[in-house]
Formats: sequence, structure tokens, C-alpha cells
Amino acid sequence: MRALALISGGLDSILAAKLIQNQGIEIIPINFKIPFCKKQDIASLIKEYMGLDLETIDISADFLNLLAQPKHGFGSNMNPCIDCKILMLQKAGQLLANFGAEFVVTGEVVGQRPMSQHRQALELIIKESGLAGLVVRPLCALLLPETVPEIKGWIKREKLLGLNGRSRKGQFSLAKEFKFEKFAQPAGGCSLTNPEFAKRIKDLIKHQELDMENVELLKIGRHFRISQEAKLIVGRNQKENNQLDEFLETGDYLFMPREDIAGPTALGKGKFDNSMIKLSSEIVARYCDCDKNKETSVLYRHFQAKDFETSVVEPAPEKILSKFRI
Ligand code: SF4
Repeated sequence: MRALALISGGLDSILAAKLIQNQGIEIIPINFKIPFCKKQDIASLIKEYMGLDLETIDISADFLNLLAQPKHGFGSNMNPCIDCKILMLQKAGQLLANFGAEFVVTGEVVGQRPMSQHRQALELIIKESGLAGLVVRPLCALLLPETVPEIKGWIKREKLLGLNGRSRKGQFSLAKEFKFEKFAQPAGGCSLTNPEFAKRIKDLIKHQELDMENVELLKIGRHFRISQEAKLIVGRNQKENNQLDEFLETGDYLFMPREDIAGPTALGKGKFDNSMIKLSSEIVARYCDCDKNKETSVLYRHFQAKDFETSVVEPAPEKILSKFRI
């Protein structure tokens, strides 16, 4: 008998999978990758604690589609947790046959998270995933209706737990019993729950610019919405300056200080006219190592241009930065 276990990397999902593995079920550990979770070495944890190879499946494209307009709305920031969980279970359901598995295991705990883990949300998630009776939540199973694997005797209900609420005591004592000492953040610390990052995502959605490339760009630099149709991203260090250089593509502008002045690289995306070029140069100048009260030169070039042109500007004052900064 086989089951797919959804692994976020956090303690709960690994404990849940381990509880079912200990009942003699062959576990296929699966991590669904979305572009908002930090990279973590979940695979080595699964190898060490369960002796298994983690399957990683990228569902970013589907996730971005739901993020634009999640049916069940957002949590405290731009985290569409209910729709996210439904999507992951739907994907798991589609994979059951491929892996010859009969059911799905998740690490949710009733009452642990306000949006997606209260009882009605857990029921709704199951209903909309189309996996009624086939999702086992071993950490809180005793508080939920019996599932098919329990009814059919594939797993023993009495060996499952009845944890609930936000306390982590039960999980920590189980981790001690299993000798699990390290674990990652659940879902890699999803950046959609971060208020600052959420603002940038909202801006992309509002301007209909939500795609993989723009999401990747959100992870670097300072972002300025300088018009309805243009954005400027300013590097914060040498690594980000180099990364922005690599993002340059057809239609974009690149800004940088004169060679004898230290300062950031900036990427201009969208529609630029002379006033946008001037404003971008002023913002770039603000972050250059120069006298903020004097004019300075900023170099810029369009993607297709071979040579840089020069814009002589005064560095933007703080109020301009805050006006456009996302
Ligand atoms: S926090 Fe992020 S990864 Fe976790 S369920 Fe919510 S949207 Fe999905």
C-alpha cells in the first residue's frame, strides 16, 4: 500500500508522513514548488529521517493563475492559503495513479492557522480538491471524520493523533520521540505572508504584470512604480546589480552611474519617455556615492542601443523616493 505525502519542509508535514510510514505504508514524499518559498534543502531531511528520495514538482504556473484571483480570497497578506491547499491536493490527486498510491497524507493541524486550518476550511479544502475520504491528516485525525484508509483498515486510527490549536508541544514531543532535530520552515517561509512583499505582488496584479519573470524580479532590489506603465528596480548591492543586468531584455532600459562614481545598476521596465528617463536617473543618482545637493551624471541605454547616453540630474529627494517606492 502506497501513499503520497505532501512535504512542505516544516516539522508537521514530516511528522505526519513518518507516522504513516511507521504503519507500514510506503510513502512517496512530494514537495510542490511555488515561486514564493525560499529554497531549502528539504530533500536531505527526508533522506535522513525517512530514507526516501523527495519528488519535487513545480506548480508555479498554476499557482500564479490562482494568485491573480483566488476564489477563497487572501489571508492576512497576499497568501491565498485555501486555494493553494486545494491546488496542491488537486495536483496530488492527479498523481495518485502515476505513483500507484491510494491516498494522500498532509501535516495540517486543526486550529493551527486562522485562514486555512480551522475545521470548516479543512472540510472545504477536501471537498473542492475532489479527494473526499482520501486525505489523511495524521496529526489531528482523531478530531476529524474517519477516512477511507482508516475504514478499510489500511492504517490504524488508534495510532493517529488528535492535536489541535496553535501550541506546538505535541509536535515537539513527537519530534523528540522520532529524534528529528532539524527541520525547515513550513512552506519555506512563504513570502506572500510578508507585508512588504505582498505590496509588490498587489502592484503586479493591479498592473496586470503577474508573470514568472516579474515575480523573480520582486526578490531583488528596491522597486519603484514610476508610472502606470513603467517600473524601476534599483540594485542594493553588487550581486543584485549583476542580477539586474542579466534580467535586461527587449524593451528595457539599463541605468548606472558614471565609471568614477560608485552606485547601483537599475532596470527600467515598461514604457519610457524622456520624463521617465529623467525621473529614473534622479532616483539612481540618489543611491550613488555623490553629493546629494549637486547635479551628477547617470548613464542609461535602451536594450537595443549599443552605447550609453548621459543624463545630468539632481538626485531625487526623499519625498520623491517614498512617493514611487512600492
Ligand atoms: S502560506 Fe503560502 S505556501 Fe503556505 S498555504 Fe499559504 S499560500 Fe500556500
